[in-house]
Parts: sequence; structure tokens; C-alpha cells
Amino acid sequence: MYHNRPITDFLSKDRKVISIEFFPPKNEVGGKLILKTAAEIKAIMKPDFVSITYGAGGTTRDTTAQYARLLKDDYEFQVMPHLTCVGSSRDEILEILKGFQDDGFCNIMALRGDPPIGETEFKPHPDGLPYASDLVKLIRDNFSGFSLGVAGYPEKHPESSDIETDLDNLVHKVNQGASFITTQLFFENKRYFEFVENCHKRNINIPIIPGLLPVLSLKQIRRFCDFCKAELPKELESKLEACGDDAEAVKEVGVEWAYNQIKEMLENGAPGFHLYILNRSDSAISLIKALTKDGIIESRS
Ligand SMILES: Cc1cc2nc3c(=O)[nH]c(=O)nc-3n(C[C@H](O)[C@H](O)[C@H](O)COP(=O)(O)OP(=O)(O)OC[C@H]3O[C@@H](n4cnc5c(N)ncnc54)[C@H](O)[C@@H]3O)c2cc1C
Repeated sequence: MYHNRPITDFLSKDRKVISIEFFPPKNEVGGKLILKTAAEIKAIMKPDFVSITYGAGGTTRDTTAQYARLLKDDYEFQVMPHLTCVGSSRDEILEILKGFQDDGFCNIMALRGDPPIGETEFKPHPDGLPYASDLVKLIRDNFSGFSLGVAGYPEKHPESSDIETDLDNLVHKVNQGASFITTQLFFENKRYFEFVENCHKRNINIPIIPGLLPVLSLKQIRRFCDFCKAELPKELESKLEACGDDAEAVKEVGVEWAYNQIKEMLENGAPGFHLYILNRSDSAISLIKALTKDGIIESRS
């Protein structure tokens, strides 16, 4: 068993952190894809840590744990499994956390989670937790040694009435013991810079890792942006439209946009970046190669 280290050990100011997000596969084909991608990412990108999501409605409890173990033990990644409050009682959540601890994990992304498919409103389990801040508190009250990531929303969480309220709720979540924030995807850097400034004004001083998605498909990104209420800039949308059905051209536009976002953010103090790779390696690898070649990130070979 490969024992992980807390992410806070290497979230230091002198080295930019790179993380990658996987999602648990739904079938055998998806299972082969994630492992192939993991091998390529391991060989070329050497991320500081990887995370694996917890499916909507808590449906992937076992697959998340299974692939988190594979990524840790077979690929020797520092792995941060995601955990949500959806569909589980407090005791069930404690049991899941105990399992992660016994398996050598010490990083958790603590989330409330989205409502299960078909439901529009989040309803906590009768014996469960209503907010991610409650999950952070539960972990801090019952375990020691976990580094805890939490979600942040540069364009506010879609359910929040306004940015100020959302930020106040974030302050509470951080004060319960979060170690760092990873953001929702965004395509305009000014959103990130304003978010960081607003966090600092509220004395949130933990690292804020920007979450970025190198676009793979126009249709898909329109759907994601609609779901999480992130702005798809007109300039990016036009460039993607101009690619028509040429999937390779779309990917190039996605990589170029993400490259420019990362360059500017790292030059202006971001502690690193997190990539939503949708279990595909090629865009992420092209991006890392370009950033390394231009000296924007250190070589990882
Ligand atoms: C980096 C990242 C990773 C993600 N990974 C997953 C995943 O693996 N699985 C998954 O299902 N989803 C995932 N999500 C999506 C996330 O679960 C949803 O955005 C969800 O709707 C909110 O989760 P949260 O942890 O941000 O919730 P919270 O921080 O609890 O916030 C939810 C809403 O409640 C409000 N709120 C918070 N506290 C209070 C309070 N005390 N009183 C009143 N209102 C309050 C907030 O302002 C917000 O509007 C991820 C999101 C991000 C950014």
C-alpha cells in the first residue's frame, strides 16, 4: 500500500502545484480509458496530486474508492478522493472516511454535492449534513492529519442569491478547517483575480487553486457552462465555432486558451492550477509541454 502525504506539505510558495481531476468510469471501456490516461499523465506530466470525483447523488461511492486506490497504489499518485454529503448519514460518512484513512489516504475534497439526477433541489439525508462546511467540521472533529480541499466559485455558486452571501458562506467553510480551495472552472481570469481579492478582504488566506478546463468540444462546454453558470466568453465561443467539426482544431483552441489563462495567473501569484481533464490526456499533455517549453512551469521530467 502506498501511503500518501498531505497536500499542504507541498503547497508551498516556491513551487507551483499542478493537479489533475479524474472521474470514476461508468463501464469497462471507461475503466480502460482512465487507466491509460493515468499512465500517460504519470509518465509525462508528473502532477503533484490527482483527485477523483464522487458521482452526482453519491452514486459512485464504491467506484470512487476503487479507482482512488488504483491511482494511489498502482500509479503512486498523491490522491485526493472527493466526498459529498449527498445520500449519506453522518455515520455512513464517518465510515467512508475511516476506510480512506485505513487505506493510506490523507487528502479529501469535502463537498456538499449536487442533487441526484432528476432532482432540482439538494435535500440532505435526514441524519446527514446540509453543507460542505458541516462535512469539514465533521472531519476535523473526528480525524487528524487530513488535508482538506473545498470548492470555491469565482462566478458564485448557482444557488446563491449574490456573491457577497456566497463569500460569507465560504468564510464559514474555510473557518471550519479547510486547507485550500479549488475553484469551479472559469474562462476569464479577471473572475479569479476578483475572487482572490474578495477572499483576502475576508481574511481567507489559504491557497486558492484555479480550476481550468481545456475545452474538448463546443457542445459539451456550452452544457457545462449552462450547468454551473460560468461565462463562456464570446471570443472563445467564436474561435470554437470557427473550428466546425474539426475536433483537433477545437482541442488546439482549448489548449491555447488554457495556456494563456495559466500563464497570466501564474505570473500574478496563483499557487498552481487544477485541470479538469475529463479522463483524456492529450490536451493536458500538450498544455504542460508548451508551458514547460516556454519556461512558465519547471520541467517535471
Ligand atoms: C473543485 C470542485 C470539485 C467538485 N467535485 C464534485 C464531486 O466530486 N461530486 C459532486 O457531486 N459535485 C462536485 N462538485 C460540485 C459541487 O458539489 C456543487 O457545486 C454543489 O452544488 C455545491 O457543493 P459545495 O461543496 O460547494 O457546497 P457548499 O459549500 O455547502 O455550498 C452550497 C450552497 O449553499 C450555500 N451555503 C453554504 N453554507 C451555507 C449556510 N451555512 N447557510 C446557507 N447557505 C449556505 C453556498 O453559498 C452555496 O450556494 C465540485 C465542484 C468543484 C468546484
